[in-house]
Amino acid sequence: MASESTSNIAEQHADSGDLVIARPEGLYCPPGDFHIDPWQPVERAVITHAHSDHARFGHRRYLASRAGANVLLSRLPDISLQTLAYGERLDINGVTVSLHPAGHVLGSAQLRIEHRGRVWVASGDYKLDPDPTCDAFEPVRCDTFITESTFGLPIYRWDTPQTIFDGVDSWWRHNAAQGRASVLFCYSFGKAQRVLASIDPGIGPIFCHGAVEPLNRAYRDAGVRLPPVRLVSEIAPKDKAAFSQALIVAPPSAQGSAWLKRFGDYSDAFASGWMRLRGARRRRGVDRGFVLSDHADWPALQTAIHATGAGRVIVTHGSVEPMVRWLREQGLDAGAFETQYGDDTVEADALGGDATAVPGNAPPAQSDEAPVHEFDDAASRS
Ligand SMILES: [Zn+2]
Ligand SMILES: [Zn+2]
Repeated sequence: MASESTSNIAEQHADSGDLVIARPEGLYCPPGDFHIDPWQPVERAVITHAHSDHARFGHRRYLASRAGANVLLSRLPDISLQTLAYGERLDINGVTVSLHPAGHVLGSAQLRIEHRGRVWVASGDYKLDPDPTCDAFEPVRCDTFITESTFGLPIYRWDTPQTIFDGVDSWWRHNAAQGRASVLFCYSFGKAQRVLASIDPGIGPIFCHGAVEPLNRAYRDAGVRLPPVRLVSEIAPKDKAAFSQALIVAPPSAQGSAWLKRFGDYSDAFASGWMRLRGARRRRGVDRGFVLSDHADWPALQTAIHATGAGRVIVTHGSVEPMVRWLREQGLDAGAFETQYGDDTVEADALGGDATAVPGNAPPAQSDEAPVHEFDDAASRS
């Protein structure tokens, strides 16, 4: 949450021709007349990625990365969507916009906005760690960088992905040797596919919860290689032996449900950046917590911010206050936008990837207006 003192700076600049300002319905670009990941229905929404707190139902037109189109449409069917390849430029009301990989999940993008010689970049969510399921984060030079700060505290430092997945593999291998199923809870969009693409499929069979499979399909359709995966529902209800060597990937909403009785003896684990916190591990009540995040840790946030060369930084969500303080200590002009973006746990609560489960994210009522196919009819590609 931003305090008065941290939000002041952003507000002061609101009348001074800023390329992005905070409005009640979401972040807004005045000269371009479009919003970025708005939380209330607007005319034109640029969507950085398809997580449910950034991509909501109800906007008239959507603009998003081509790489993320499959996933976005699987979560928000029938929206009016225009896509851009990474790096492709679009002119909207004299503002040049382009999308650049954010390394967070498939299709995730930073939005670059250029207007009269000034360049702003809105990061969306991002990470710098390698991830075989999405394009790597691309540093984009800008005057003003709008950054997330989900894990913007010095305690958050991730091990290398290799170390984390070695840990998952050895936990799974150990369980399989004991004839015990391994149930891994993780968010159905992004984390689940990253896990599937990174574990050793030679250890045993892999099963997924029904909420994970539609996203696997969207990833495969986009050309991401995932190992063969079966649905738990393909196995006869009484056949527990089918799971004794298996890894089962399930959304957090399945935790504590009767569905787990299918597996007989099992060990469970949770994969999330929040597993860094002992309290979070205890609350989850799982056998193992793997500290695996799709967000930048503290050093990576600093690296990414520095790489933009921005003199001004605006923090949107997460550990806003500490990050603003740290940036000011570095001599940067730092402030905050108050937003309604959540953190990973918003996805966790979105019942197995059902985007409509997020408050305020109900499917649109039927409209008899003609469907709009272009983000901006006046827009031209350059
Ligand atoms: Zn996200
Ligand atoms: Zn976010």
